[in-house]
Amino acid sequence: MEIEERVNVNDYVFKVLETVKLRNPGEKEFHQAVEEVLTSITPLLEERKEYLEAGILERIVEPERVVYFRVPWIDDKGRTRVNRGFRVQFNSALGPYKGGLRFHPTVNTSIVKFLGFEQIFKNALTGLPMGGGKGGSDFNPKGKSDMEIMKFCQSFMTELSRYIGDDIDVPAGDIGVGDREIGYLFGQFKRLKGAYEVGALTGKNIRIGGSLVRKEATGYGLIYFVSRMLEDNGLTLENKKVIVSGSGNVAIYAIEKAQQLGAKVLACSDSSGFVYDYDGIDVEILKAIKEKQRKSLTEYIKFRPNAEYNENSKNIWKIPCDIALPCATQNEIDEEIAKILIKNGVKAVGEGANMPTTKEGIDLFIKNKVLFAPAKASNAGGVAVSGLEMIQNAGKTYWSYEEVDQRLKKIMYEIYKIASETAEAFNEPGNLLKGANIASFEKVANAMLIQGIV
Ligand code: GLU
Repeated sequence: MEIEERVNVNDYVFKVLETVKLRNPGEKEFHQAVEEVLTSITPLLEERKEYLEAGILERIVEPERVVYFRVPWIDDKGRTRVNRGFRVQFNSALGPYKGGLRFHPTVNTSIVKFLGFEQIFKNALTGLPMGGGKGGSDFNPKGKSDMEIMKFCQSFMTELSRYIGDDIDVPAGDIGVGDREIGYLFGQFKRLKGAYEVGALTGKNIRIGGSLVRKEATGYGLIYFVSRMLEDNGLTLENKKVIVSGSGNVAIYAIEKAQQLGAKVLACSDSSGFVYDYDGIDVEILKAIKEKQRKSLTEYIKFRPNAEYNENSKNIWKIPCDIALPCATQNEIDEEIAKILIKNGVKAVGEGANMPTTKEGIDLFIKNKVLFAPAKASNAGGVAVSGLEMIQNAGKTYWSYEEVDQRLKKIMYEIYKIASETAEAFNEPGNLLKGANIASFEKVANAMLIQGIV
């Protein structure tokens, strides 16, 4: 872009966005993530014209590297199956690429790029030296045997191993990838490398170099963040009615921590439907069904006398609540659902999933003064503890549960502080989305400036 074209910041941002759309046709989730960040940082760009001169915007929206590979494997019936594998190494200004792997049939280039883009800024907020990346496959783990999962993970890693390493790129889990998958991926990586390079993956089981509290970290971190946000507005979680979508790793530990802090969690969901438990969700039963048996939520009502099952997951948001915690997947809260939540008097929304609210939904929450905790800040606890796992691995040491939990809490409080102070400094007090975007963009952009045009 010519320098004269850069004078008006809004026009300039618009042009960069147009280029992103032209260059990445049809990648709507990626466009959405880029648009959300770029349109909210214009006040910073007005002050820091050197970012424009150095082409930070044009560079930050372009991944440093994207790999895309075939993953062949053989199922239990002896048939050859083929999936697609992805890894996007988006930005390494602050450290090695870092971010999870998602195994889900919806995974495509747009999804991994949106997740990788978000990860750059999320990781920057943690204050730990991590760049941003993401990966995954359109492999559907649902209904697969343990043997099939292992074979798939081994084939996936056979290719991925060329691109990762503790100071290159450090994958972890995301939807469909938990400590079982990380274990198989790590086993194959170790075999291919002929070395126990423990820091090349995080989210490992604690028996093979994982960190305590990693499993709980995203959910607990979300609640630490939300409770700070409530406190800052004269509220607490005590006796609040909470709805949590999802019933995976993030949802389970968000429910657990919210209940420890006195909230009443009434409902949670999975792809097949949701459960409404009048007595509050029993998190131990939920863990048994979801973590151990890997079954559908329909099982839950067999164990709980006052629980109902409903087949439409989206209808979970029709239950009146004080606090809504979307912990399932992207774009689960759209304008229509946001309106229902607002009508029912929701006081706060805390994003546990990545980009669970559409732009229209976010605008409605902010306009209606609903406290809004944006994902890249409020769900950073998972990757924060991954960062702590990397530090423990590098130092060949282990920290106690309390030590990791304290550090997690401190990081989440710090993220809240920087997001709210930045929002205030840019004349939009309470707009944590803007605060988080500006603060994290600034960190990444400054690190990019120092390193020249690379
Ligand atoms: N998938 C998680 C996230 O969205 C964690 C990534 C990691 O630990 O590297 O932040």
